[in-house]
Amino acid sequence: RRAEFTAMRDLPSVTRDGIRVALLINAGLRDDVAALDVTGADGIGLFRTEFQFLVSSTLPQRERQQRLYRDVMEQAGDRPVVFRTVDIGGDKALPYLKDQDQIDEENPALGWRAIRLSLERDGLMKAQAAALLEAAANRTLYVMFPMVSEPWEFAQARELFEVQRQRIAGRGRSGPLAVRYGTMLEVPALAEQLDILLPMIDFLSIGTNDLTQFLFAADRAHPKLAERFDWLSPSILRFLSRVVTTTRAADKPVAVCGEMGGRTLEAMALLGLGVERLSITPAAVGAVKAMIRSVDLAALRPRLAEWLVTPPPEGFRAALTQWAQENE
Ligand code: PEP
Ligand code: MG
Repeated sequence: RRAEFTAMRDLPSVTRDGIRVALLINAGLRDDVAALDVTGADGIGLFRTEFQFLVSSTLPQRERQQRLYRDVMEQAGDRPVVFRTVDIGGDKALPYLKDQDQIDEENPALGWRAIRLSLERDGLMKAQAAALLEAAANRTLYVMFPMVSEPWEFAQARELFEVQRQRIAGRGRSGPLAVRYGTMLEVPALAEQLDILLPMIDFLSIGTNDLTQFLFAADRAHPKLAERFDWLSPSILRFLSRVVTTTRAADKPVAVCGEMGGRTLEAMALLGLGVERLSITPAAVGAVKAMIRSVDLAALRPRLAEWLVTPPPEGFRAALTQWAQENE
């Protein structure tokens, strides 16, 4: 199968009925970018910038951040890279950030992390914004924010970036040609304010790892729960269906960047819901592309729409597996 996937690298990621699906990879380290050429992916749909912070023993200064971001964009060439601002705090606590703010949290996943920490520790975020903006000189910068729960958090983060952008221009330095601002959707509450959020954003990326943990109130790292909650459950698929349909109706690009998209059956379900942009672990690109090239969305979508109304008694997993076999 490995040879088969290698051969697939240069084949387009298009469904049997001609729908082009953007296949991107998740990355976080300089070395991960090489996977673009290995897999033939269309770009990086999630660059987890906190990795640099997590592997460092001191706070990475702006110059060091900027060097990483520039190297990544240069290596990616024309392929887009979506940088996510730091998702630190909570269980990704940094020893060098420890101070009066960092209390021991009983529920770190629900705690003071990601955008919540970034908006308060805005010195940290300003430095990251400046590093990203200058690294993207004369290009388009794609940036997104983690763990946004309410539209005002997105608006405030975007404004912080725009102020930095004006500062850079004011000093006569080169900034990006354009900046596209997006948000992760991983907190269910945000889905209830899509009508307010969507006009503000340039793109949406659904983080199904955290989203699932919050929808089911089930720790994503808990060994006893790992198999307990299925990504192909009616709750998740119905939830995602609403978000994808609403976002598409507003003409905003919607991607899925959680691990769910890297499993072939789950990825097929996502395409069936209307997702046409997946950012996945590089190792999954070959298998997912093979699935994309074999699926007929014109047949799958109406079928799935029926199942969303009346979930198949045998479960989505069994029903989709059988559908895939019958329609191969
Ligand atoms: C997610 O939550 O689905 C996601 C992609 O982000 P992370 O796995 O880094 O929390
Ligand atoms: Mg997450």
